[in-house]
Amino acid sequence: MEKVELLALSPVELQELLVSIGEPKYRAGQIFPQLHKGLSPAQMTNIGKLTRERLAEVTDYHLPKVKRKLVSALDGTIKYLFELADGNCVESVLMQYEHGLTICISTQVGCNMGCKFCASTIGGKVRNLTAGELLGQVIAAAKDSGKIIGGIVMMGIGEPLDNFDAVVRFLALVNCPEGLNIGYRHISLSTCGLVDRIDRLAELKLPITLSISLHAADDETRSAIMPINRKYNVAALLASCKRYFVATGRRISFEYTLIAGKNDSREDAEKLALLLNRSLRTRQESMPIHVNLIPVNEVKESGFVRSGARAVKAFAAILEKNGIRATVRRTLGADINASCGQLRKETAEKAAKE
Ligand code: SAH
Repeated sequence: MEKVELLALSPVELQELLVSIGEPKYRAGQIFPQLHKGLSPAQMTNIGKLTRERLAEVTDYHLPKVKRKLVSALDGTIKYLFELADGNCVESVLMQYEHGLTICISTQVGCNMGCKFCASTIGGKVRNLTAGELLGQVIAAAKDSGKIIGGIVMMGIGEPLDNFDAVVRFLALVNCPEGLNIGYRHISLSTCGLVDRIDRLAELKLPITLSISLHAADDETRSAIMPINRKYNVAALLASCKRYFVATGRRISFEYTLIAGKNDSREDAEKLALLLNRSLRTRQESMPIHVNLIPVNEVKESGFVRSGARAVKAFAAILEKNGIRATVRRTLGADINASCGQLRKETAEKAAKE
């Protein structure tokens, strides 16, 4: 019989499970908070031996194991390579922002989206992470660092909306007051633009922040660097953003990776401003728009080169002139290869050589 993943259970589901193995319901209140602090049932001193044994018979508790840990000498950013129970590895990054610690987590082992600039997608998708593994990254990083994590961004390896059910379950779990209690407003989900799933997410009306990896303002440029654009083009994507805003009232932020000579000219900036203003700002519903500019991290397989400082500044200035707030992403952990996918890939390549 397959064992139940303890970390994926809601408080009510845990109650039901306990009742089914002859334990009182209230036991859930003793167990749930401890699980989310990183203790396995075997390590819990507030429950009896019989309870621990009964639980061990029907459930599993695995926290991702720290396989490698890199600490940036520049800004204290910590990058974890976590090993999952089946030996697969994913990356998480713990970053210090003005308002506290935020963790960037992975949602899949690998990725199927095929974006040309991205290191995570080179070997394709191996599998989805479970809700327990999504949560496990946050718990394991908090436990290892001894710090309280106040925010989450889903910008690590994988496409979160390609793992929809586990991600939605994880969001509810991490928001539980009995557990980590991280507010939805401190959680961002980044997507390359799976329009049908953006619509499903909108229906849930969660007050999280949605980030759209746009990276180009016309179909020709976008399709050349992001294959998903051939399924859901720029117009379809922006229309779904509009629906998302109308349904949830939450502003959306856009990510735009600047690649020298591909999407970073003044014309590209004008085109982007026009697109966002035309698609998202009508008289009835006017969305505040924020664009995050990210000079591309150079991944050797892609051959893409990051835009120079002058081009980045000019690009941002054109957006601002058109009423669009633009910030250039601060580079954190530049000395530890902190952008997603590179550590996992490097470790796998090394293992293959040995
Ligand atoms: N699949 C999701 C989330 C993971 S990627 C998404 O596409 O949004 C998180 C962000 O990093 C995305 O905006 C992605 O496009 C960007 N990204 C990936 N590789 C990058 C690179 N080499 N340089 C800069 N940004 C990159």
